[in-house]
Amino acid sequence: MALQERPETCVIAVDGPSGSGKSTVSRRLAVAVEGVYLDTGAMYRALTWAVLQGGADLADPEAIAKIALETELSIGTDPSAPHFAANGTNVDAPIRGPEVTGAVSAVAAVPAVRKHLVALQQAIIAAHPRIIVEGRDIASVVAPDADLKVYLTASAAARAARRSAEDATDVAATEADLARRDKLDSSRAVDPLRQASDAIEVDTTGMGIDEVVAHLLDLLNSKVSK
Ligand code: C5P
Repeated sequence: MALQERPETCVIAVDGPSGSGKSTVSRRLAVAVEGVYLDTGAMYRALTWAVLQGGADLADPEAIAKIALETELSIGTDPSAPHFAANGTNVDAPIRGPEVTGAVSAVAAVPAVRKHLVALQQAIIAAHPRIIVEGRDIASVVAPDADLKVYLTASAAARAARRSAEDATDVAATEADLARRDKLDSSRAVDPLRQASDAIEVDTTGMGIDEVVAHLLDLLNSKVSK
């Protein structure tokens, strides 16, 4: 399945909870439309890594914001190699580790951190005519004018099974961690995880990656041919 007509500009917002397949699907879509890929979760993770390095108390939003706003981020947008660095250190491995995963929702709940990263994300989107952006608040806050907005979901069991296969972790522990982060991400005061009213929901439970990507390209084709 390919894109029938390659649009000049095309912003695709892919939101959803952890383990819904966002990253793999978004990277594949970016390759299909010959665009770039922005992993906004990795941006929150990279700042969380810097906050932990700086020794900030996770219960102190001001201390978190101070370190986060002073951190220099290098954000990779190549869908085949999206590398991230914070203050000159490559953080591709540590941002996927348990310390950062355990702390990221607390850092992402700090309003000043969100304001800072949303502005950065919007600048990156403005600089790239074709871009797939994945996150939690892309359709609702970061890119409300996106050409296609999808909200990926999957059952809690399917999401935990996927994540534990990726990270080689225990399924039950992973399911508990996903539930904890979903709760924090959907209940925070600023920009909570929520399906935008005009986003198309795709339940990926039982669907393979190829199937999901083909379905999203179908949706995009029907949008661009209108
Ligand atoms: O997608 P990923 O699991 O890497 O995201 C890590 C965390 O970053 C999420 O649990 C959430 O707290 C935060 N996040 C966010 N807004 C986004 C992307 C991620 O708050 N747009």
